[in-house]
Amino acid sequence: MTNRWQRCWDVAPEIYLLLKESDSLEAARDVVVGYLQSLDWTHRREAAEMDPWDYVLFNEGLECLKNLFSPRNERAAKNSSLEQLWRAAATGDAEVSDDFVDEFFHLFKAVKVQADVYPSMLMEGTTAPDFTKYEGREAGKRRSDYLDEMARRMDEHLSRYRSGLDPEVARKRAENRERVLALLGGDEGDWHDWRWQFRHVFKDELGLSQIREIINLSPDHDRSISLALEKGVPFGVTPHYLHLMDEDPSDQDFALRQQVFPPLKYVQKMIAHRGDRKVALDFMRERDTSPEELVTRRYPRVAIIKPYDSCPQICVYCQRNWEITSPFMPSAMASEAEIDGALDWYAEHEAMMDVLVTGGDPLVMNDGLIDRILGRLAEMDQILSIRIATRTPVTVPQRITEELCEIFGSYHDLGRRSLSVVTHFMHPREVTAETVEAIRRIRVLGMDVYNQQVFTFANSRRFETAALRIVLKKIGVDPYYTFNMKGKSEMEEYAVPIARILQERKEEARLLPGIFRTDEPVFNVPFLGKDHLRAWQNHEIIGIQPDGRRTYRFLPWEKNIVQVKPYIYDDVSIGGYLRRLRERGEDPEKYRSIWYYY
Ligand code: SF4
Repeated sequence: MTNRWQRCWDVAPEIYLLLKESDSLEAARDVVVGYLQSLDWTHRREAAEMDPWDYVLFNEGLECLKNLFSPRNERAAKNSSLEQLWRAAATGDAEVSDDFVDEFFHLFKAVKVQADVYPSMLMEGTTAPDFTKYEGREAGKRRSDYLDEMARRMDEHLSRYRSGLDPEVARKRAENRERVLALLGGDEGDWHDWRWQFRHVFKDELGLSQIREIINLSPDHDRSISLALEKGVPFGVTPHYLHLMDEDPSDQDFALRQQVFPPLKYVQKMIAHRGDRKVALDFMRERDTSPEELVTRRYPRVAIIKPYDSCPQICVYCQRNWEITSPFMPSAMASEAEIDGALDWYAEHEAMMDVLVTGGDPLVMNDGLIDRILGRLAEMDQILSIRIATRTPVTVPQRITEELCEIFGSYHDLGRRSLSVVTHFMHPREVTAETVEAIRRIRVLGMDVYNQQVFTFANSRRFETAALRIVLKKIGVDPYYTFNMKGKSEMEEYAVPIARILQERKEEARLLPGIFRTDEPVFNVPFLGKDHLRAWQNHEIIGIQPDGRRTYRFLPWEKNIVQVKPYIYDDVSIGGYLRRLRERGEDPEKYRSIWYYY
């Protein structure tokens, strides 16, 4: 037996023996599942004597194991992890990765009531007072002291992530701004002019040479951007966004660089699919959910319209990388006939109550065109909400001018319809004084601003997203969605296991006041739309692949209305994610409860 299995079998020697003594896979299935059933009943009968949280972990681990050993699920996952366990017990090893072994080590710990979740990452080294011994004011004071300690420890984590409102960060950025302006031959007035910002987006060979003069690119990024530009893969960074970065790659600007500087693998994949991106990379199958040119519809009462299919700055993880073009390409603008056709479609569809004007970034369009589109939508009685999806408050906050806000204000007519902005902050570091001013201009109109964050490796450390929620609340933006970064193969190094998004929600977001954690963690099911990750009915684990990836079955949002084919998804492995965190200097021990989220 190789050592890597030993700790697995030490935790669950009964399972080891049952597997080892079975002379066929089906015999192993019968005895192991029988053992789990009896364990289940034993603990159900005696659960009152077990710590309630241990019981929850036991129960969830048990459900997972039963799921993993089900022949029906094996067929769907296209792998039998039971067979691999059986071979490992019988012969000493099996053709699986260490990440696979780690998954079963933790599942066995859960069902043997040995899950190592205490002491929690946050309160390590403290003992919670026995509050039942106290009453009244004394009880209240002791509880308050304990919560103070919890908050103090949260602050220790949160203080790692300083926003651009921090005076020291702001001072550094003022220097960066001077350097950008000096290079581009601009002045303060230019900086605050969105047209100047647009004109100077770094998006070609000249732009790359200018970036090199302002910041030091890592050799990998330098190579991948050069290749992207050579082969026409969309790339762009605004002067405003570039000035948020430190001169040298640092831990602080890691998340910013990751968003716009593409990894080589991504560029290569985009090049390889140059001719068939619209099919090969359209993960969400928008091609099959568009009833009219520029319109995508996945839900009964809302659809999106995409009049412009590029952005001033291109996000590497963009879900629409199959159609997004380089910044400001003339072809990004839909024709007048297409826009009119899409607006006519809305006019003909009485069911449409909410419309998301998106793209690309619709605020690249001129004010006149924005006014025209909003005006047409506002004529439709059925439309009660118009949302404008734009990342400009982050990438070019100067775009939110008084004139544009005047247009917005004219359509925000409470009692008739509301207009709101949906934006896309990824990290506290992106918030600046200019951002605050942009948001303020929108909010004084009485409009709401919501945030959609994509949960990637770059913003997934302990309390990193909690820090974003806090600063967003401070500037008047409500967290709306946190998107699971799907494991599109070209973007795997950005992906985070579903278990981490669930852990973040429970162990970090939950500690904030409810009004700060208004975002819903979601998984976008191709073709069908968002599944809420917190709802247990929506997804279940059905397999562990030999390389340690969990396989999930997603039941789409409309499962209770109509029978819909489930979606099978192989996640990135937890073991691989923890290794990437270690490479970034994180202590994987601080994430150890991740294994118990499914
Ligand atoms: S702002 Fe949105 S549409 Fe534009 S590149 Fe980023 S993710 Fe894609």
